[in-house]
Amino acid sequence: MSIAWSSGETTVVPFVELRYRCRCAECVDEWTRRRRIEKSRIRADISPLRVEAVGRYAVQIDWNDGHKTGIYPYSLLYAIATGQSPESDVTSDS
Ligand SMILES: [Zn+2]
Repeated sequence: MSIAWSSGETTVVPFVELRYRCRCAECVDEWTRRRRIEKSRIRADISPLRVEAVGRYAVQIDWNDGHKTGIYPYSLLYAIATGQSPESDVTSDS
């Protein structure tokens, strides 16, 4: 997914990475902050069916694997796009 920022930058984020970094309660355990999905189990042809703006701070992505509760704040998108890890509070196996 290509994202154009107000700064003039354009970044490209692989769909698999974006799907993997979903932080909804289904993907990250609310109590242990442990990620419940594995990158290797995300389908190779994953892609968004619909991307909808949520207020002024985030987008909600409706994925073609049936997952649609993921909300991505722009700050998270930017961090993913620029290779930063904003998720020191989330643990994962991979
Ligand atoms: Zn999710």
